[in-house]
Amino acid sequence: MRFVYPQGKIKALTFSYDDGQIYDRRLAEIFRKGGMKATFHLNSENLGPNREKDVFIGEDELEEVYHGHEIACHGLQHRNPTTISGQQMLLELQEDRKELERMSGKLVQGLSYAFGNYDASVIEIARSLGIKYSRTVQSTMGFFPPADFMAWHPTCHHDNPRLMELGQQFLNIMDFYELPIMYVWGHSFEFGRSGNWDVIEAFVEKMSGRDDIWYATNMEICTYNLAVRAQEFSADGLTIYNPTAVSVWLKTKNGIIVVGSGETKYVGEH
Ligand SMILES: [Zn+2]
Repeated sequence: MRFVYPQGKIKALTFSYDDGQIYDRRLAEIFRKGGMKATFHLNSENLGPNREKDVFIGEDELEEVYHGHEIACHGLQHRNPTTISGQQMLLELQEDRKELERMSGKLVQGLSYAFGNYDASVIEIARSLGIKYSRTVQSTMGFFPPADFMAWHPTCHHDNPRLMELGQQFLNIMDFYELPIMYVWGHSFEFGRSGNWDVIEAFVEKMSGRDDIWYATNMEICTYNLAVRAQEFSADGLTIYNPTAVSVWLKTKNGIIVVGSGETKYVGEH
């Protein structure tokens, strides 16, 4: 018996793109066309009335550009988390959250650390402000879910020469371990400036349309994994109680089983 993703899918693919520059328009569309979901980490001060119009996405086009994807924090002004005071960091995150929630009309609970920099006190501040996960810039080149979602190390940057090879490895994964994630990150301006859109187009094409992959945002994957980790079991391990608001899915010898919110279920062999 092991946990799987919703509808019994065995792996999850996600993306994270930072800074909210105008090239997000094209990138968000590439992901949508490929049936994929991404997370866009934004600095809300850059989107407001004083924005540089030929550099950043505008507040008034958030819904149009990012529909189907997740909007998340990247710090109000993109300041370096580890060199500003705790009070300044608190404002960077709290104000960014408030602004992005006001602009999007949605709950914003995700973060990627500006410059990839963080330490224990930055994590503590972010967590206390209701942030559920935060992405780093440390590539793992692997697919294990993070031990701590507040230090969520991605698989690789899209520029990594092994991107397509890692994609193939991910496609080949059977269910020998639980809840694998392939997580690709970058900045859309890297495509915009160098013109290498073919890198992400080829990757999306290769990875799209697979029945066993859950195409999800960072937050969806975080929420699901945290729900799985919160499941409670009987002493013999055969009865499961789901104390969370999220349905969880298991693959057992009797097939795929779903345990709904608040439900208690026997998951042993009949
Ligand atoms: Zn950034």
